[in-house]
Amino acid sequence: MKKLVLIGGGHAHVEVLRQFGRQRAPEAEITLVSPDRHTPYSGMLPGLVAGHYTFEQCHIDLQPLAAYAGARLIFAEARALDAAQRTISLNNGDTLTYDLLSINTGSTPIVNGIAGAMEHAIMVKPVAAFLKQWAALIERVRKGEAHRITVVGGGAAGVEMLLAMQHFFAHQTPRREVDYSLITDAPHVLAQHPRGVRALLEGNLMRKQVRVHSGLRVTRVAADTLIARDAQNREQPITTDAIVWITGAAPPTWLADNGLALDGKKFINENNYLQSTSRGEIFAAGDCATVAGAVYPKSGVYAVRQGPVLAHNLRAALNGQSGEALQTYTPQPRALALISTGEQHAIASWGPLALHGNWVWRWKDSIDRGFMGKYRDFPA
Ligand SMILES: Cc1cc2nc3c(=O)[nH]c(=O)nc-3n(C[C@H](O)[C@H](O)[C@H](O)COP(=O)(O)OP(=O)(O)OC[C@H]3O[C@@H](n4cnc5c(N)ncnc54)[C@H](O)[C@@H]3O)c2cc1C
Repeated sequence: MKKLVLIGGGHAHVEVLRQFGRQRAPEAEITLVSPDRHTPYSGMLPGLVAGHYTFEQCHIDLQPLAAYAGARLIFAEARALDAAQRTISLNNGDTLTYDLLSINTGSTPIVNGIAGAMEHAIMVKPVAAFLKQWAALIERVRKGEAHRITVVGGGAAGVEMLLAMQHFFAHQTPRREVDYSLITDAPHVLAQHPRGVRALLEGNLMRKQVRVHSGLRVTRVAADTLIARDAQNREQPITTDAIVWITGAAPPTWLADNGLALDGKKFINENNYLQSTSRGEIFAAGDCATVAGAVYPKSGVYAVRQGPVLAHNLRAALNGQSGEALQTYTPQPRALALISTGEQHAIASWGPLALHGNWVWRWKDSIDRGFMGKYRDFPA
């Protein structure tokens, strides 16, 4: 019996489990390691914060999914990998051995060692911790203890989350008055998106009186102040009552110094089979890994597309197959981004195209619900 260990219930592993449920692998003993029973679908997180969705609607329950796949589920976090010994140490003190390992643990926001950020800012990931701090922030705003919220990060996720928080507080009774600021070190918000999308979102932020500080690099964080530097290296203090940190994707720290090949940014370096370039028995998918030579952003749509390829290749590897028996993964050259704006309205970004309207939100909603529907209601 070969031991397959899946670390993390990310977007690709939920598909691996679904595929192993549809066609069991009797030759394998499968173990899933996840800190939480419910794994978040971040595409719906802004909708959860805005109040459009419930927790259950935007989380996949790993327990029935693992049972469907015949997998054992361990609630823990991987803390260290010994690739030579083929062991994984968990934060509950256990050590797992494996024949085949697959890693899909996502990413956390980039902090770059900025002093005070980890202590004072609310990190958007891990999502479970974020949701607890969001609940505490709601209380602070209700009690009148917080009136100013600053989001650090001007990508799609940062903008969506800011607008979602604003929507939430604007629809509370009594209405909560909160000032919002957004800081980005890029010259504009949504620097990765075409001009039309940027213009739509900038207009939206302006109408909603969000203060946008672009071209500012945060260098220090205290409980009620952010210190940022502008292009001329001048310091600018920004006072605030709450800081929400939604910067790009940082690599997992627990994978450093373990003999596994990492790329220049310390993500797992893998080939087109989603297989480590240094260890054939280790596969990886999603934000924590990068396919060597391919250029694509760290975003959930890529992790989702990797799921079926990863499932196929893990099954082939369990059967002792390699090389051409494995499927190759090629990232799509462009991906559709549907960016929500707080209310039930969204902007579509596709290549140079920018479309917007309530119908775009309904389109996004049906895609998101369709995705989540695949991971519910498994036969006992
Ligand atoms: C607010 C927000 C909105 C976003 N919206 C979109 C969007 O609309 N579309 C899009 O494509 N992308 C979106 N993204 C990006 C998206 O979140 C990530 O690219 C995506 O989640 C990556 O998927 P993943 O499968 O790699 O990891 P994740 O979905 O992050 O899953 C990783 C899982 O591994 C678990 N885990 C972490 N560490 C460990 C460990 N040490 N041991 C065991 N388990 C562990 C986590 O608990 C989690 O369940 C958004 C991001 C944010 C912050």
